[in-house]
Amino acid sequence: MYLIIVFLGILIGSFLNVCIYRIPRKEDIVYTPSHCFNCSHKLAWYDLIPVVTYVFLRGKCRYCQTNISIQYPIIELSNGAAYMGIFAIYGLSKETIIYCILFSILLVIGMIDFRHYIIPNGLVIALTVLASINLFFDIENYMSYLIGFFIVSALLLIIAIVTRGKMGGGDIKLMAVAGLLLGWEKILLALMLGSVVGAVIGLTLIALKIMKREQMIPFGPFLTLGIMVSALFGDAMIIWYLSLIL
Ligand SMILES: [Zn+2]
Repeated sequence: MYLIIVFLGILIGSFLNVCIYRIPRKEDIVYTPSHCFNCSHKLAWYDLIPVVTYVFLRGKCRYCQTNISIQYPIIELSNGAAYMGIFAIYGLSKETIIYCILFSILLVIGMIDFRHYIIPNGLVIALTVLASINLFFDIENYMSYLIGFFIVSALLLIIAIVTRGKMGGGDIKLMAVAGLLLGWEKILLALMLGSVVGAVIGLTLIALKIMKREQMIPFGPFLTLGIMVSALFGDAMIIWYLSLIL
């Protein structure tokens, strides 16, 4: 069972690579056959075996020898590892399916925002569909999800207005639909986690002079990390946190 889940995760991870590359370039992700981004040579099935092809060809295109980013196998492997981890926690359940899909969408959003400073609307819509399905199965708690939709997004919207656009519209939409999926408690936790990790990494990069103070650092990757951690471990973290104050 674990082998099947990992294999499935890696296979979908390979499709996520296509999404990460093509969505910000507004290329079609379904019908265009896979091709080398450098020489445009159409890739055969044996060029498309996740991870294996990369290792076998030592990270180079078979046709033009250009280097293929290590990002490809890393995305595939991390998607496989995440699916396995989620399955280990939730077993064969609705939660496993929802969290696996959530992880994959967030991975694509995080990578695209990291590289291009945008969060494409199509991915926000995909999250909205996922949130709606989850809401359908847990309709008695609709109030928590409804508040979740507004609580963080409204806060970010105020920050965006006050700072005159230093907060991206994509981040606001992301946190609105993620709140609809997680409920208000976990989306607050997600914001907290994302902000803390983002601040620590940002300040470290500035202190190490890898980055300049005025340089822009995308918030999306940290938010997606916060959302995922909060989705998987939020219940335990919130109970632990409340036990500290009470
Ligand atoms: Zn090539």
